[in-house]
Amino acid sequence: MPETHRTRLLILGAGPAGYTAAIYAARAGLKPLVVAGLQPGGQLTITTDVENYPGFAEPIQGPWLMEQFRAQAAHVGAGIMQDVVTEIDLSARPIRAKGDSGDTYLAESLVIATGAQARWLGVPGEKELSGFGVSACATCDGFFFRGKQVAVIGGGNSAVEEALYLSNLAAHVTVIHRREAFRAERILQERLFAKPNIRILWNRVVEEMLATEGKFRALRALRTQDVQTGAIEDLPFDGAFVAIGHDPATALFRGQIGMDADGYILTEPGSTRTSIPGVFAAGDVQDRIYRQAVTAAGTGCMAALEAEKYLAHLPATAPAIEAWT
Ligand code: NAP
Repeated sequence: MPETHRTRLLILGAGPAGYTAAIYAARAGLKPLVVAGLQPGGQLTITTDVENYPGFAEPIQGPWLMEQFRAQAAHVGAGIMQDVVTEIDLSARPIRAKGDSGDTYLAESLVIATGAQARWLGVPGEKELSGFGVSACATCDGFFFRGKQVAVIGGGNSAVEEALYLSNLAAHVTVIHRREAFRAERILQERLFAKPNIRILWNRVVEEMLATEGKFRALRALRTQDVQTGAIEDLPFDGAFVAIGHDPATALFRGQIGMDADGYILTEPGSTRTSIPGVFAAGDVQDRIYRQAVTAAGTGCMAALEAEKYLAHLPATAPAIEAWT
């Protein structure tokens, strides 16, 4: 039987941003409701070791960390729904959302924390080796490849920045790009060209990711193809970083809220306020630069504090939540 849930603060997304917003809002007495979405726990649930989330001296597991976020949010009183919002009307007051379950959500304010997803090449072996030599985040996983041979695939700012970052850790970095020119900013390219331990393979695509034999499979090599000659070459690597862009999960909000050309939600500088009063955005959905769990958690905290302030200034004449239909 479909139900209607009424809340002062609805939070869409259950990654570090959404759960942190929920923890702060619950402790402020707002009784927030989190709708967890398609990938509860977010991108950290598809990583293994996490060594850069502050507060843990030893490496921790991404899925374990997200379970701790969830348990903490539940413990302080946030409601958590295993549902996926498929429709939303940001112009209605209360804001009205519909879930895949058939349930309706009515909210006085909203935090959008639906995250972003790295784009993957979609080649054989990539999915199976993700977390076992294949990654989409050098800042997260580069440390595991100290002194090793790594590849970065892509030619934009992310790929060049990741290659520069990795060149300080790995013995050698190979950038594999499908064209003969980067789209990255000139200054980044110049830094890249100046690094003695970075080489660039132009006009190459990765056709397949090859695994080691045996029980514990890890990346062994990349099967590449020269797009001009058609020549196939297997290149041995310990790690491969796919850096071909990210897609923010914002299709649901298109046409309703201010976004940039790539679909990232626009927020006021130094704030999580969006173009719509009472709607806040936190985490990777509004961040194309840092994309870290700790920065997502930070903006989640900001969103809850800003929502609290917004709700405190709503006219006292607004109908009680129980009266909403
Ligand atoms: P991007 O600019 O869209 O670049 C993606 C790169 O991956 C392109 O070089 C593209 O090749 C390549 N690519 C895409 N699909 C591919 C595929 N299937 N196979 C092989 N290669 C593929 O993405 P981004 O570098 O993540 O940057 C996204 C946005 O964030 C940009 O606006 C960027 O400026 C910004 N950004 C800024 C900073 C900064 O300011 N420090 C840092 C990171 C990102 P082609 O060139 O052939 O299309």
